[in-house]
Amino acid sequence: MKYWITTAFICVVSSAHVFAGSGKPNIIIFLIDDMGLMDTSVPMLTDENGRPKRYPLNEWYRTPGMERLAKQGVRFSNFYSHNVCSPTRVSIMTGQNSARHRTTDWINPYKKNGRNGIVPSEWNWEGLGKGDVTLPTVLRQHDYTTIHVGKAHFGPDKHEGADPRNFGFDANIGGSAIGHPQSYCGRKNYGKGSRQAVPHLEKYHGTDTFLTEALTLEAKTEVDKALAAGKPFFLYMSHYAVHAPFNSDPRFAANYQGSEKNPKAQAYATLIAGIDKSLGDLTDHIEAKGIAENTLIFFLGDNGGDAPLAGTDDISSSAPLRGRKGSKWEGGVRVPFIAAWAKPDPENKGQKKLPIPAGSIRQEIGTCYDLFPTILELVGASAPAGHAVDGQNLGRLLTGQSDSEHRNEFLNHYPHPRRGESHFFTAWRTGDWKVRYEYFAEGNDRYALYDLANDPSESNNLAAKNPEKLRSMMLGMVRELESRNAVYPVKDGQTLAPVIPKEKNS
Ligand code: CA
Repeated sequence: MKYWITTAFICVVSSAHVFAGSGKPNIIIFLIDDMGLMDTSVPMLTDENGRPKRYPLNEWYRTPGMERLAKQGVRFSNFYSHNVCSPTRVSIMTGQNSARHRTTDWINPYKKNGRNGIVPSEWNWEGLGKGDVTLPTVLRQHDYTTIHVGKAHFGPDKHEGADPRNFGFDANIGGSAIGHPQSYCGRKNYGKGSRQAVPHLEKYHGTDTFLTEALTLEAKTEVDKALAAGKPFFLYMSHYAVHAPFNSDPRFAANYQGSEKNPKAQAYATLIAGIDKSLGDLTDHIEAKGIAENTLIFFLGDNGGDAPLAGTDDISSSAPLRGRKGSKWEGGVRVPFIAAWAKPDPENKGQKKLPIPAGSIRQEIGTCYDLFPTILELVGASAPAGHAVDGQNLGRLLTGQSDSEHRNEFLNHYPHPRRGESHFFTAWRTGDWKVRYEYFAEGNDRYALYDLANDPSESNNLAAKNPEKLRSMMLGMVRELESRNAVYPVKDGQTLAPVIPKEKNS
């Protein structure tokens, strides 16, 4: 018995020592649902000289938490997520492009989403499951406590993907198959009794606690538990906000009342204010715990914005980029992104591995599937053999260096219908050029080609004017799709692979 006690004691001391000496950083992914590039007081786009450029919506929103994070870290003006929820979420978890993991559309919580016979039958509508390699499964093998708070949307109800504990998370607060809450209001029990009820938050039912606040409080509690256990943590803080329904958060309503904007837009602004306060509160909390220097925060959106700015249809929450959530345009996929240490300290041992220049902004292309390899590299982990990773380690770019090996590209494969707009498309950006292919369009209408450096709003389709560039871009896009074994839409039983335009004079 004496032997066992002694051994246990040595183990505890030894493991605490290893943790303190290893300098493993705590990691927070702070993910906002449906937040547009312009839904913040922090400018996310740049002018022709690469400096942050303010637009009118930057004056409308008040996001001091984001301003603080941006001031002490790095932003990306060309950061991409997929055009709807679930694909991005699975990509963050796996480091894979959606063309590879095949969760190419949002997952309907209660049925196989899409039109049978047209949507590729092999698309991964069941999402993640047991045995999948994910960010938390790898981090857990490296001593991390892995915490899921908020919206999951990784798989349908009664499937493994509905519970993040099935693919690497030690704790899950608030996550299930649903993609949005029935209500953000504690007084309405966050939709209890409906098909969009947020689980696990019974202690806030009947109170005035807004959902965003409840999740923030729960995240703090889970962080404290990890610290008490002497372990580094990975917190996936995934807010339901700012997805519809656009319930007004009473804490911030007065800030936006009396403006010319419609009541929905005002309510939406309070949702933004809520997630921003959550960011600030969480940062304050870890600073109070003395771990801010050792905590890295990644802030990003899961798809383009969907703000209810009715009456100003020409101004979406992604303008001057065209389009919004779900769409084939840049506004469907370009998202806000900030990475920063919660408290910068150049002398901190852990930060010396990833010294992020304060207030910096990058114009290279980053993607949601880059987080996986970036985080693994930082903590000294690697993906298991056989797990393909499409993302790239952003380490050099985050630390203000050039990276000659960085591939500036992003592929968004969406073989699905959506609302009334023509869809079933693939878009591929490499450098400043973007090609888009629409599977059900006829003839040359299938193709679009844009020079985003000179035409960021995609108003000038160069496909007909520049057939050679179109052809080379299409060849590149198909190469990217085929290398990931992508699946294509179907018409009359025939699989519609992209058609490469013929060479001139051939
Ligand atoms: Ca979303």
